[in-house]
Amino acid sequence: MNQTEVKPQELILALSKGRIFEETIPLLKEAGITVLEDPETSRKLILPTNKPQVRVIIVRATDVPTYVQYGAADFGVAGKDVLQENGNTGLYQPIDLQIAKCRLSVAVRNGFDYENAIRQGMRLRVASKYVQAAREHFAKKGIHVDIIKLYGSMELAPLVGLSDVIVDLVSTGNTLKANNLVEVEQIQEITSRLIVNQASLKLKRQMLQPILDAFKAASAEPEPDQQTV
Ligand code: AMP
Repeated sequence: MNQTEVKPQELILALSKGRIFEETIPLLKEAGITVLEDPETSRKLILPTNKPQVRVIIVRATDVPTYVQYGAADFGVAGKDVLQENGNTGLYQPIDLQIAKCRLSVAVRNGFDYENAIRQGMRLRVASKYVQAAREHFAKKGIHVDIIKLYGSMELAPLVGLSDVIVDLVSTGNTLKANNLVEVEQIQEITSRLIVNQASLKLKRQMLQPILDAFKAASAEPEPDQQTV
C-alpha cells in the first residue's frame, strides 16, 4: 500500500465528531493535550492543540481507518463496528479505550413476532449499515435473510415495510422507543479502539509512546464506584 509521506516532527490524530470526539477529550487531557477548537462550532477540519506538534483532523467515522492506514493520520479512534465492517488491515490496535460504548442489536417493529417468524423458518428482510455483521449473525443462527444495505436512518425501514428487522447500534434505546421499535437480540458489545499507523509507530515512537501510555492508563481506570478510597 502506498503510504502518504510521513512528516517526522508532527502527529496527526484522526477523530470523528460526536461521542468519539467528546469521549477522547478526557483521554487527551491525561496526555497533556487540549484541542483548541470545538468541531461542533468550528468549520475547520484540522484543529490545533496546545502542543504545536499535535493536530487533530475531523473525518467521518468510517473514514478514520482509511486516513490511519495510509499514514495521512498517525493515529485515530474508531468503533469496533467500523473496524469490523470496513476492514482493518495494516493497523495496529493497541488499546480498547472503552469509550463510545453501545451494542449492535437486532430490532423489530413493536408487535412483530420475531421468535415466531424464526420458528416458522420465515425468510427475513434485514436492513442495516452493518451488512457483514448482520450476515454473520443470521448465518450462525441458520436463519435465511435478504440483506438490504442502508447508509442511515435504519429505524425507518421496518416502519414503512422496507424490512422486517434492522441491525443497528443501540445506546440508550431512546431512538428505538421513539420509533415504536423493540430490541430483540444483542449481537455484540461495541467500544472504540485506538488505531495506529504501523510506520508511524516505528518512526515516531518517541512522540507517540507517552500518549499511548496515558490513553492506556486512563482507559484502564476503574469505574468511580469501584475505586478504593
Ligand atoms: P440511542 O437512541 O441512544 O439508543 O442511540 C441510537 C442511535 O444512535 C442509532 O441511530 C445509532 O445508529 C446511533 N448510535 C448509537 N451509539 C452509537 C455509536 N457508538 N456510534 C455511532 N452511532 C451510534
